[in-house]
Amino acid sequence: MIHRERVADDVYTFQSDVYAQVNAGAVIGQDWAVVIDTLAFPDETLAIREFIEEELKRKVRYVINTHYHADHSWGNCYFPGAYVLGHALCRDNLDKYGQKSLSRALETDNVFQKTQIVLPHLTLDSGVLELIVSDKTLRFVELPGHSIDGIGVYVVEDEVLFAGDVWMPIPHTVDGDPDIMRQSLRKIESMTIENVVQGHGEVILRGEVGSSINDRIAYLDMIEKIVEESSHDDFPGEFLKEKTVEICGKSRILLGGAAEEIHQQNLRHLYREKYNEDPNYLDS
Ligand SMILES: [Zn+2]
Repeated sequence: MIHRERVADDVYTFQSDVYAQVNAGAVIGQDWAVVIDTLAFPDETLAIREFIEEELKRKVRYVINTHYHADHSWGNCYFPGAYVLGHALCRDNLDKYGQKSLSRALETDNVFQKTQIVLPHLTLDSGVLELIVSDKTLRFVELPGHSIDGIGVYVVEDEVLFAGDVWMPIPHTVDGDPDIMRQSLRKIESMTIENVVQGHGEVILRGEVGSSINDRIAYLDMIEKIVEESSHDDFPGEFLKEKTVEICGKSRILLGGAAEEIHQQNLRHLYREKYNEDPNYLDS
């Protein structure tokens, strides 16, 4: 069952119980509501909709995708009357890769049988866009780095930021860029924040914002250093494998146990990017 939390009046988060502690959110207006990200598994998405429609008696009018990845956008289709909003590059990427990865997922998991890829109807590129929901202003903030299309949603009156995956317990850079991620995190640091809803994991409170950003940036620094060191080894793949997530100061139980996998993906990806080849393993 999804875990629901109220972070401010009429502002909620919903955390997946089945996939990597991914978060969605909702802002509830007088007559209608906005959903921020959708989770991936239909049952969980439908539980969010049921809460908003049945318990709070509001229709979902807008769904915002912070980026195009499956765990944030595959639930779009379960809000059939809503307008979907995302970065123009979110629409491009979902258009390019969404159907392919859905078909791949369907080969092993028929839970997605009724899922359809719904592309954003409204897109933003640069400049300022605000969505007014009764007495709340949702301001869109470009936050690339985890992916090129990343946006955050800042609830101005409550100083709550839905950051998307640019902010996770362990940075994930495989589809992004560490430098751009650092810039986005520094940009968040300059904002006035009461709570940050990370793309995955626990809500960050005001007093933890600075240290949490420094922690993410320290991790990025460290994986870059490790990749650089690995290049001097005969078997960089083995070298990277030994540099576990714990060595990089992170617990392996983060993200529902996906931490080490994500960490190793980061290392291998960075290596490939930097040296234009796969890291060499003993058995290959
Ligand atoms: Zn993502």
